[in-house]
Amino acid sequence: MIKHQGGCHCGNVRYTTNYDPMLVMACHCKTCDKMLGVGTAVSAIFSEEEVIFEGELKRYSVLGSSGNQLHYDFCGNCGNNIATYPLLIDGIVYMHIGSFDNPMAFTPKVEIWNKTKPEWFKSEGCIVESFEDNGSLERIQLLMENMDQRQ
Ligand SMILES: [Zn+2]
Ligand SMILES: [Zn+2]
Repeated sequence: MIKHQGGCHCGNVRYTTNYDPMLVMACHCKTCDKMLGVGTAVSAIFSEEEVIFEGELKRYSVLGSSGNQLHYDFCGNCGNNIATYPLLIDGIVYMHIGSFDNPMAFTPKVEIWNKTKPEWFKSEGCIVESFEDNGSLERIQLLMENMDQRQ
């Protein structure tokens, strides 16, 4: 059963997933700001095989603030940035929540790179873990714990 779906602005790219995300995360890093054109990027994290894409995505790869490579996948027509694959955590995809048909379904629980967090970002108590940098080890641990709970 489809739990969440979304797509790019022009409709060339659509995706569905039968799962809830393992974790929803806010990233305040400079790379996401630039790549997504936002002040704070919020992503729903899934296992790669849990998200089924239709349509053609283009890829732009960058060296992230953590020194690890990130692949940003976007629609070649409208330029909507849909997903990020962090090479730091193999087999994981970050789906940018703005492209879901119902972005309101997701609330970030973790934030990373809070040292470059904008002044105006207030979490209203939803953030339970906050890391100054990419907090990778702790984050992977959180992912693993949440994955266990989903089974
Ligand atoms: Zn598009
Ligand atoms: Zn980021």
